[in-house]
Amino acid sequence: MLRERENSVMEALKQVKDPEIDSISIIDLGMVEKVEVFEDSVLIELLPTFMGCPALDIIQRNVVNSVAELNFFKQIKVQFIYHPPWTSDRVSDEGRLRLKEFGIAPPPTRITETGEWHVDCPYCESTYTTIENIFGPTACRSILYCRTCKNPFEAMKPVSTMM
Ligand SMILES: [Zn+2]
Repeated sequence: MLRERENSVMEALKQVKDPEIDSISIIDLGMVEKVEVFEDSVLIELLPTFMGCPALDIIQRNVVNSVAELNFFKQIKVQFIYHPPWTSDRVSDEGRLRLKEFGIAPPPTRITETGEWHVDCPYCESTYTTIENIFGPTACRSILYCRTCKNPFEAMKPVSTMM
């Protein structure tokens, strides 16, 4: 019974998208750390991806609204926790695909020891890209430029506990 409810909650969480990238869910971003289902309440623990990015209060509200639609619980508790820290490795394969569809290069999987990273162009897969502006439109994205297809594109900055 509780197990079934937990599955329903996970389904509801899949409906909660990143406020800025509406094709990627908080599950695919790797934000959901724990779902604990009780008799008439549920506790959902989320890892913030970046400080103040994306809008955490919007996500919190959307999580509550989506889970409330199940009509299972008297109380829905959403908590942001910082341990373990979110890293860009937590983005699922599905999430990486969705980011690409949105024209955003998924976070790089390899970061050198000196902290250098590289992403391929999400449009043409070219590796011939340069960083135009490390400070993108939001704290979590950078602007890059593809020298092959001449498109600017955004990339999710890597976040790793190694850095
Ligand atoms: Zn390109």
